[in-house]
Amino acid sequence: LGPKKPPMRKGSMADVPKELLDQIADFEKIYDTPAPVLKAIVKHFTSELDKGLSKKGGNIPMIPGWVMDYPTGKESGDYLAIDLGGTNLRVVLVKLGGDRTFDTTQSKYRLPDAMRTTQDPEELWEFIADSLEAFVNEQFPEGCTKPLPLGFTFSFPASQDKINEGILQRWTKGFDIPETEGKDVVKMLQKQLEKRNIPIRVVALINDTTGTLVASLYTDGETKMGVIFGTGVNGAYYDVISGVEKLQGRLPADITADTPMAINCEYGSFDNEHVVLPRNRHDIIIDEESPRPGQQAFEKMSSGYYLGELLRLAILEMVDNGHILKGQDCSKLRKPYIMDTSFPSRIEDDPFENLENTDELLSKTLGLSTTVQERKLIRRVSELIGTRSARIAACGIAGICQKRGYDTAHIAADGSVYNLYPGFKERAAAALRDIYDWKEDKPENYPIVIVPAEDGSGAGAAIIAALTEKRLAAGKS
Ligand code: BGC
Ligand code: MG
Repeated sequence: LGPKKPPMRKGSMADVPKELLDQIADFEKIYDTPAPVLKAIVKHFTSELDKGLSKKGGNIPMIPGWVMDYPTGKESGDYLAIDLGGTNLRVVLVKLGGDRTFDTTQSKYRLPDAMRTTQDPEELWEFIADSLEAFVNEQFPEGCTKPLPLGFTFSFPASQDKINEGILQRWTKGFDIPETEGKDVVKMLQKQLEKRNIPIRVVALINDTTGTLVASLYTDGETKMGVIFGTGVNGAYYDVISGVEKLQGRLPADITADTPMAINCEYGSFDNEHVVLPRNRHDIIIDEESPRPGQQAFEKMSSGYYLGELLRLAILEMVDNGHILKGQDCSKLRKPYIMDTSFPSRIEDDPFENLENTDELLSKTLGLSTTVQERKLIRRVSELIGTRSARIAACGIAGICQKRGYDTAHIAADGSVYNLYPGFKERAAAALRDIYDWKEDKPENYPIVIVPAEDGSGAGAAIIAALTEKRLAAGKS
């Protein structure tokens, strides 16, 4: 009698042919992000953050957001807020309670599919103004006595010399609209509002990360950063004027060296020059086929807009190597971006031993019929992509914390990937532990903890609008 074979483990690949095992081993290699790689990324990150703040500037924009106060928690009043996201426009009426509390009433308006890449430079602003008009009519049927202050959350890199402007540097996340880059998005919106005679004043233009930072600081004084892990990836933190070299000599006298300044890092563009990120052949294809090759290198490896596409490219590679889906019609699978993040997300989430949910997903959406073994491979690749995303994304947090010397911090996080992608939170926390060599093993006890954020684009935008009005009323610049 020989020794008994151990029972097959869940997800075991014991019966997978050799070429396929080699293919998977190769994927494991090209998606690997061991601790030393993360540490090297963080090291380069901190120096790039400094470069971004210097007069000469660098790859990371480090955009001053002109939020020069910390929220006190006492901000109060009614504010409108809008958030232009990837799929929806969100319009919110925010009532700040003045006691660290707030109430919101909101509507969502679905962005028509073609609007991301419309050829008409006005259409997006018309759509926003129409939606705002509908919302205001609904909320204030009797009309308003004075113009409503609005905080505009605009989740794209926009340069600001003051808080109520934003010169769009470039579109990200697949948006591409002509004659808008290099222009002030506040003016483009305000023009449409005036045309419609809507009583709204755009008080502040806010990045989603800055809104997240401020909203979370309003309720949790330990907050050091606002981060978004969503369609795109980015972070904001407070620096002080003396730390922002590129502003020196450009500021009115009442803004002193120790005045705080919220910085929208726009670190999705970290490592555009490809020094340290472990880019693989799939990353290179994504970059080359994107509307903006050479840009957002960090984002393209970690944010939700690209995770499904990475999976699609990996599956296609296995198909083209003759390893899986033999003899099947893969024409749907050949369509770029046909798989969004919900694919790897649902596949990783599939609770069944034989991945029945995955089977249904792939057959309904792509017309593919898969074997259990093929699905297990696809799941393994999803894990690799999802894990790398979280580990790379965590480097932005460590980069800022090291730059600012924060040994302990609450990092307020929001975004679809953070909130919905299975295992993302645990993986990001584990990556921080690898970077810092913490011995502690409970993520909630790590010195730097990632916590769910408060509503940045609602409450955050409103608080920032309130802080701005208070500054103006006090005669400050
Ligand atoms: C944008 C940032 C934004 C991030 C998260 C990136 O693509 O450039 O402005 O904060 O996505 O939404
Ligand atoms: Mg968003």
